[in-house]
Amino acid sequence: MPTVPIEISARHCHLSQTDLDILFGKGYALTPTKPLSQRAQYAAREVVEVQTPSSWGLPPHTDFTFGKAPDHNQIRILGPVREHTQVELSWSDCVSAGIEPRVLVSGDWKRSAGGLILIGPNGEVKLERGVIVPQRHIHSHTDKARELGLKHGQIVSVKVLDEDQKSSLCPITFHNVIIRIHPTFDWQMHLHTDEGNAAGITGMAKGEIMI
Ligand SMILES: [Zn+2]
Repeated sequence: MPTVPIEISARHCHLSQTDLDILFGKGYALTPTKPLSQRAQYAAREVVEVQTPSSWGLPPHTDFTFGKAPDHNQIRILGPVREHTQVELSWSDCVSAGIEPRVLVSGDWKRSAGGLILIGPNGEVKLERGVIVPQRHIHSHTDKARELGLKHGQIVSVKVLDEDQKSSLCPITFHNVIIRIHPTFDWQMHLHTDEGNAAGITGMAKGEIMI
């Protein structure tokens, strides 16, 4: 059975240039700090503050927070800019924010949820759409997919392998894992933090694909 490295994606957002302009100023360009595992993607130096309509603008503002410290509501921006702004949260984050968790493939803007307000140094953006819980997925380069006989959009199950002995108390197999194929993708599975925590994954892990 083929294996795949598993990486946990923390909550983050991608911005459209329009929203980046509103949040940071006209013509603003993100500052790349760290390249990500998928080619041409990077973590930017910039972060945005996330609030909800009930937590922002009405005193007190503090009735919604992802964590105890106020800066826990700052989320990392990943670049480059995209057509639509997309905020990727865990299921727990959505519950904390009081918005419906919609498990979707990245880019499914039409079916995504709204209900968040992004706040930057230059302005605010109220999102009518763009909030998703990313569906568990595997990125695959075209060649790797051909080698393994995988198709774009194919659904597989992945058993988390107990390599570091830490996850032995919570063995788990993830179902409904979607294969995403692109010539710029590296072979890697992405889970959100709830999923990683449920599987007891603390760093990198490996999964066995059950086709
Ligand atoms: Zn991914």
